Order: sequence, then structure tokens, then C-alpha cells
Amino acid sequence: MLQLSDFRRQRSQRKAPRPRRSSLSLLSELFGKKSMNAAELEAFVGAGLRSVVMHETGHILGLRHNFKGSLGVSAECLQTISCTAEQGLGVSVMDYLPLNMPSEGGPEIHVFSPVIGAYDKLAIRYGYIDMEAYSATELPGVLQEAADNFDICTDADYELAEDPFCAMEDLGEDPIQFHENQFEEFVRVQRSLLLTATTPGGSYKDYGYAVRRLLGQTLMLGEDLLPWLGGIRSRYLHRSLLGPAGTGTENRTQRAREPAPIDLQRRALLLLLRLLRPRSAGLLPPDESLPYLVDAGGNEGEIMSVDLPAKARNLTQILLSSALSSARLRQVLKQEQLLGLDPTAPPALSVSEFLSELVAGVLGQGFEASQEVPPEEMDLHMQLAVALKVLFQDQALPAEVRALVLQQLRQLSAATESGLLHIAAKDDLERKGRQKRASVDLMNSHLALLRSELSEVLCLSPEEICSSPRVPAQTMAPKARSASRSTSVAYALWAVGASIGLRL
Ligand SMILES: [Zn+2]
Repeated sequence: MLQLSDFRRQRSQRKAPRPRRSSLSLLSELFGKKSMNAAELEAFVGAGLRSVVMHETGHILGLRHNFKGSLGVSAECLQTISCTAEQGLGVSVMDYLPLNMPSEGGPEIHVFSPVIGAYDKLAIRYGYIDMEAYSATELPGVLQEAADNFDICTDADYELAEDPFCAMEDLGEDPIQFHENQFEEFVRVQRSLLLTATTPGGSYKDYGYAVRRLLGQTLMLGEDLLPWLGGIRSRYLHRSLLGPAGTGTENRTQRAREPAPIDLQRRALLLLLRLLRPRSAGLLPPDESLPYLVDAGGNEGEIMSVDLPAKARNLTQILLSSALSSARLRQVLKQEQLLGLDPTAPPALSVSEFLSELVAGVLGQGFEASQEVPPEEMDLHMQLAVALKVLFQDQALPAEVRALVLQQLRQLSAATESGLLHIAAKDDLERKGRQKRASVDLMNSHLALLRSELSEVLCLSPEEICSSPRVPAQTMAPKARSASRSTSVAYALWAVGASIGLRL
């Protein structure tokens, strides 16, 4: 899905695509081949051009975009060439469809849509109907057929970014399944990218470029998941010609608006949590490839080292702060309250569940001092504390949401205090090896910094639970001193931070 999706996204942003040889190599790798021969490449490009021409011809004939065109075709059909030969990759070529990737060792399938979709045929029938030859009921009949069988959404709906089903670059009736497959594909490609992105005799700059592209795709995958959190499914429905008001169309099972299915929202959140740990998820280059991770510099002929940890940190920071933004929380609340207390309404994702699952997912196994905590985990903890703090300080947020955010801040604070106590209680630090002790010292300092961050919002008033009363200084200090030099340093750091309101 790499090149065409990029092309379309860049086109929508009015930027020119930037073709590079390594992109083709990447594409070949996605197809599970070392490289394409000339005939395969020609067939591939030809099929892609045909799908683009079908789309553009649709515009010429008056059709608008329909970004729900991908929803009408099942995952099973997408992997069966005889099925897509009839149905296409979606019910409309007026969607922006990504490449339909074959599974490794799987059967041959259509990578691009080979035919126009059922929705396109109906839309053309409606627009070009022979008014003299058909009865007056023909047009409403076409509209009814459209209402019964097809979901639509246009560019304007897409811009609202409220309905996650209204999405570009996804495939099939289960878009989260598509994103889960994408995730697995990225992991697979990353493993062998050093070999596939550089040709024999070629510069390793191509490898750095391919890694950068793949990380860009990984970020886009995360950004595609965000609208699912608190997503609201909207439909163009009309009151029936015959039925009473409020019953919708003849198809009474549909609502004009409803929460996106809760299982899809939960799966989107789980996948997002995996993206927040790109190293352990296998989304970063393997260690053995790191010596070759160079990219083109700013000037022709230059090379520069790629700062991979900074790129990974940037990825998690963008995704976590977006997931915990005021706008996202408001959207989840809006979705939760959408249908009131109607017992027949489908279940919604509550703000409470969303926040607690996200925070618990980021914290992972908590702050066990016995474990060595990787630097990326420390970054995640700090990013979480900062994001929650910023949320809590947004006084325009509905009060119930702020209260729920405060609950999570308290949870995080309790975990931090528990981690510090766990370290302080250990009296066998002196007997441990130097390396082990260094990691415990580091964890101790990390937790002290986290506590300092949290103390800014948890000490707003004397009644408020805050870091200091939870672990009284009188109790903590002697323990820390007797336990090790490192804990007393951590305590001193916290005490200084707390007394001068240090912003970290
Ligand atoms: Zn178009």
C-alpha cells in the first residue's frame, strides 16, 4: 500500500510525490518477492493506472468521492480473485483504496480494483436515467436501493473526522482488521528491510530512507486508529415515505447516528497501545541493522546518521498526546452520551473505560524495581504524566471528565509511590552487583522525577491527595538514607523539586 497511498495523501495535501528506487524495493518486499521483473512491473503499473482512470472518469461523469466504498466487500472476498473480479475491491471506485496486499505464500489476488463497484453503477443509473422511458417511481426506487444497500460519505464528512468508517486508505468491512494486518506487515517488512531496500552496490542511504518511510507509515497507521476512539457512525437516512416520523427509512434497523461498535473501538485502542511500544512490537529496525542506518543529508551526496530513538520517541509522543487530548476526550464523551439511556442503544465506549485502559496499558507492569526499565518505557511514563496533567489543567473540559482524569493521576501517583517504597524497602542493595544497582538507582531517580511532575497537580489544595503526605518525609528520608545513597539522592531531588515547584 505504500506508494499509491502516499501519492494520494500527498495529492490531497497538494504536494508532489517523491518516487525513489527504495520505494519500489519496499513494494517488492511487501509482495514477498526479492524484486519484480519488467513484465510483472508493467502489469502492476497498468492495473494501478486502470483503477486511477476509473476513479477520474467517475468524477468526469459527476460522481463525488465515497470514502465508505471500501466497506461493502468482505475480507474473504478481497483474498479471492474470482470474487473481486465481479465485486471489485470496494462497492465504489470513488473511494481512495490502498493496495490489496497478498498474504505471504497466499493465492494471486487483485492488488488494484479491476472493475467499478455496485454503488458506482447505481449512482450512474440515477444520474443518467432516461426520464421519458421510465416511470415516475423509478428515481425514488433507485434512491431506496441505495439507502438499503450502501453507506456513503463525502469529502465534507471526512473533514469532520467524527465517523471512523469514513476513511481513506482502508479496505474491507472490518477496517480494524485491515489495520491489524498492516501492523503485522510492517513488522515483517522491517525485519528484512536492510536487504530489500538496498540493491547490490547501492548506498545504505536507501536503507535509511526506507526506514524513515516505514516509520512514517507506522505513524499514519496510529493516526488512522485515533478517530475510532469515541467514533460516531453517521448515515444518510431519510424518513420513510410511508412510516411515522422517527422510524427512519424502510430499513428500521439502522440509525442516523450511533456509537461506532464498541468492539472495534476496543481493538483500535489495543492496537494503538502496541504502537506505543515500537521497539518491543518489532516496528523498529533490528539491532544487527543499526550499523547501516544512514540517510541522505540536506545537501547532495551527504549522509547522516539516523537518530532512531528520537524518531521512536516522536512517534509515541504524537500518538499518546493525541489520544489524551482534550478534543479526543470530548469526542469520547459525546459518543458515550449520544443516545442517552435508551436500553436498545448499542453500547458505547465510556470515558472511564477509555482512560483506565489507556493508562493501565501505558503503565504495563508498573514500577517494579527488580526489573530493568528500558529508556523508552521511562519516556512513556513521563509522556503519560505530562499528558494527564495538561488534560487536568484544561478547565474547559466537562467536570466529569476532569474528575476521571484526576482518578488516573491518582492511580499513577499511587503506582509511583509504591515503586519508590519498594526500592526504599530493599536493604540488600549493597550486596547486588554494580550494574544491577545502577539500574535500581536509575529507576529511583526516574520515579522521583515522575513524582515531581505529578505533584504539580496533586497538591493543589491542602485536602488534595498529593505526593508528599502519601509518603511522609519523616518516614521516607531515614529509610532512604539507610537503604542507599541513590534513594537519598532521589528523595533530595524530589524535596527540592517539590519545594520550588520545579517544572520538569
Ligand atoms: Zn477523486
